[in-house]
Amino acid sequence: MRKKYAAGNWKMNKTPKEAVELAEMLKPKMTTDKAEVVFCVPYVDLIPIADVVKGSNILLGAENLHFEDKGAYTGEISAPMLKEIGVKCVVIGHSERREYFNETDETVNKKIFKALEYGLTPIFCCGESLAEREDGITIERIRIQIKKGMKGLSAEQAKAVVVAYEPIWAIGTGKVATTEQAQEVCKAIRDVLSELYSKETADEISILYGGSVNGGNAEELFKMPDIDGGLVGGASLKEDFEKIVKAF
Ligand code: PEP
Repeated sequence: MRKKYAAGNWKMNKTPKEAVELAEMLKPKMTTDKAEVVFCVPYVDLIPIADVVKGSNILLGAENLHFEDKGAYTGEISAPMLKEIGVKCVVIGHSERREYFNETDETVNKKIFKALEYGLTPIFCCGESLAEREDGITIERIRIQIKKGMKGLSAEQAKAVVVAYEPIWAIGTGKVATTEQAQEVCKAIRDVLSELYSKETADEISILYGGSVNGGNAEELFKMPDIDGGLVGGASLKEDFEKIVKAF
């Protein structure tokens, strides 16, 4: 049975002090045996939050990594650095990184390989823009992102990836995809994974929906057969995240 996830993406929010306060407030509310709970936090918050979540069911996540182990990459953070401080998951290819930081399908692919090499779970993001949806090329776009992002991965490696479908027009806009829209694309992702690997492999890969998930809409979304949880931005910074964690 594939795992369910409630993964919070804190983005560029919370100083280390604020992050500890938020994590301490959320921690007692995060207990569940139905899903993995992940806090993906800014780099400088990772070490203090590692302390807060120690001994709990909360997994520590980063929001990015570099695809090399080390070297002359000023300002970057590597997989072994993340591994050493107890990071378990890492967001890769978020649309904000694709839009503002030159992330491409090719760098996403290299980063997924690097995360897996160090035993980190990649939360691999894909999603279409509003223009692509309006042009009717959503599925085409997503299929290309999946094929390029996962290029060269073995079936065993693919099973260790968590895919997050995040329509760009729904991120941080309050405009959530309908459950039917989200299910349609998550199913299309499972179909392409099935073509690339096998139905058995595709059925083991967790696929999340992200885009204005909140305590009010999570349950309906998570009931859909191909949606295995959420990647959550804004609502992961609030008490509301408890409702999302308990929505399975
Ligand atoms: C995200 O950051 O991945 C996201 C989905 O944000 P929000 O939930 O705020 O739309």
